[in-house]
Amino acid sequence: MKTYTLQGVVSIKYRLRLKTGLHIGGAKENFEIGGVDNPVIKLPLEIKFGDDWSIPKDAPYIPGSSLKGKIRSLMEWFIREPKGVNGTVQTSVEFMTEKAKDNTRKLGAPCDCGTCSVCKLFGVSDVRTLREFLEKDKKEYLPGPPRAEFSDAYPTPESLEMLKETLGEGIFTEVKYENRINRITGAVEQGGLRNQERVPAGVEFEGEITLDLYSKEDTELLKKLLTGLRLLENSYLGGSGSRGYGKVEFSKITITLRGRDYFEKGSPEEELFKGTLSELDENRTSEVLEKLENLLEEQW
Ligand SMILES: [Zn+2]
Repeated sequence: MKTYTLQGVVSIKYRLRLKTGLHIGGAKENFEIGGVDNPVIKLPLEIKFGDDWSIPKDAPYIPGSSLKGKIRSLMEWFIREPKGVNGTVQTSVEFMTEKAKDNTRKLGAPCDCGTCSVCKLFGVSDVRTLREFLEKDKKEYLPGPPRAEFSDAYPTPESLEMLKETLGEGIFTEVKYENRINRITGAVEQGGLRNQERVPAGVEFEGEITLDLYSKEDTELLKKLLTGLRLLENSYLGGSGSRGYGKVEFSKITITLRGRDYFEKGSPEEELFKGTLSELDENRTSEVLEKLENLLEEQW
């Protein structure tokens, strides 16, 4: 059986800029009278980072789960790789639709082939796949531990300052009103008015995605993850994307490596890249991967 030893962690620290208003739904406070119909998710408590920097209570944030789920689903529709032990099917949707036909999986469930990049990065949600590999003596197909982790992303200090100056202390969102049009009269429908709370365009969030490396082949997963980030820029985050919400852009990216020395001896992280996502073209990505492989050469 393949053994897994953590060889290093690639950290992708990013800034995500909202190109349009973002709505990631939160809980509606039931005692609130005259509140918005659809509030966004907000911090229940102030978060203090050291003495001089904190994020106030009620500031909006992007849950890591929202980012992870969206990137995963976009990648499942994009990446073509042999799925499962037979490897005859190339796409996740095709593979999972086959499984839904014999009622072993729900239609539309996330990929659980266990062998593709998505399953290695994000994990296999259905343990039945892993059990099948073990029972049928196909242990070499086990995907290993999920490699990617997504932190929650918080508004940057600059954005919090900008919101305070333009909207006022303790106000972080806009309330957008939307109408329904009567199909016959073409007029706005009575009672069709609803409102949505959004984080306004221009706000930047910062967060981190980490990628655990267990083998040389895992470095390729970094490339796949970058594809996922590009797919997100082309799609949207949160709700109402088809109505223009949630367009985002990775405005700043810093990629570093924490090798075994970082954890064992407290050695510094090694910087692999600093720039924007659009600067990470084929050549720059190859440079990053080469640097990464050289740094880890002695460890494999
Ligand atoms: Zn898969």
